[in-house]
Amino acid sequence: LSAQVSPSELGYEGALRPGSLEEFVGQAKVRRQMRLLLDAAQIQQRTPDHILLAGPPGLGKTTLSMIVAAELDKPLHQTSGPAIQHAGDLAAVLSALTPGEVLFIDEIHRMARSAEEMLYLAMEDFKIDIMVGKGAGATSIPLELSPFTLVGATTRAGLLPNPLRDRFGFTAHLEFYAEDELESVVRRAARLLRFDIAAGGIEEIAGRSRGTPRIANRLLRRVRDYSLVHEVPGDTESVRAALALYDVDEHGLDRLDREVLRAVVERFGGGPVGLSTLAVSVGEEAETIESVVEPFLVRAGLMTRTPRGRVATRLGWEHTGIPVPDAL
Ligand code: ATP
Repeated sequence: LSAQVSPSELGYEGALRPGSLEEFVGQAKVRRQMRLLLDAAQIQQRTPDHILLAGPPGLGKTTLSMIVAAELDKPLHQTSGPAIQHAGDLAAVLSALTPGEVLFIDEIHRMARSAEEMLYLAMEDFKIDIMVGKGAGATSIPLELSPFTLVGATTRAGLLPNPLRDRFGFTAHLEFYAEDELESVVRRAARLLRFDIAAGGIEEIAGRSRGTPRIANRLLRRVRDYSLVHEVPGDTESVRAALALYDVDEHGLDRLDREVLRAVVERFGGGPVGLSTLAVSVGEEAETIESVVEPFLVRAGLMTRTPRGRVATRLGWEHTGIPVPDAL
């Protein structure tokens, strides 16, 4: 259920992951908060408080959990909410931890309810109760755990029950990255990949990365492919050509973003339209729309969320190329 991450966890993503807080680009506030939390724990020779990382996908939650483990010089155990379907699954993961280890639970909001309750006690007192047997003969056996630090990640902090949220000593809210920060991410990744890319090309990629380092790295990879295959330099022109090939427009909107925006405008007259109706109309999970597509469309000023549903803004209409109604 949980996997220990070895240093050889490489591949493209792994190779580009910053290994320390200092190497981590942007999120200055979170980095300062985290540094303080880790340093204080070190002075007191105890395990740091549990940390909740909240924010849209691809902003560095997994990377930060690895950095916490690296800073503590302890192994990282990784698992995810959907993998924990029963309290017993969690008991197995928790009881295998050795003192001071870091447990990363991705998508922690998707864990089974019974496991959540077990986690409250584990986080607070490093103890769990294991139920043995069924019905009237069932007994609970207390089990002491090694002290550990839990790093939970969620794209939906609002979905976590309060008792769980309250047991984290610190919640880091990760924000979308500014363009100059994304340029640093791309510059750093290009250096690591030994890919010679012009400043204009870096800017172009950063501007189309939806404020997200994972996307910046992915686009860089496509541009590198393009440059390699066509034997052209990584300049602005080849970056534009490569990104056009992959349907990434000048705002960084991809196919799904455009489909959602188009659906609001074309099928629902610009809105308001409810989340589930919208999800059905584009054939996607409501959760993906809400946690991946929407935050970016809202941030880009293309859509707004109102109590009655999602509404396309004037900019949103313009982006679809459909004539804007006079009333807007
Ligand atoms: P998910 O929640 O979907 O797992 P995530 O938020 O955990 O996403 P990561 O997997 O940590 O995102 O990051 C994605 C990629 O982006 C990594 O390969 C990493 O190299 C890069 N990255 C993320 N944040 C930063 C950063 N601040 N500086 C440099 N690179 C970053």
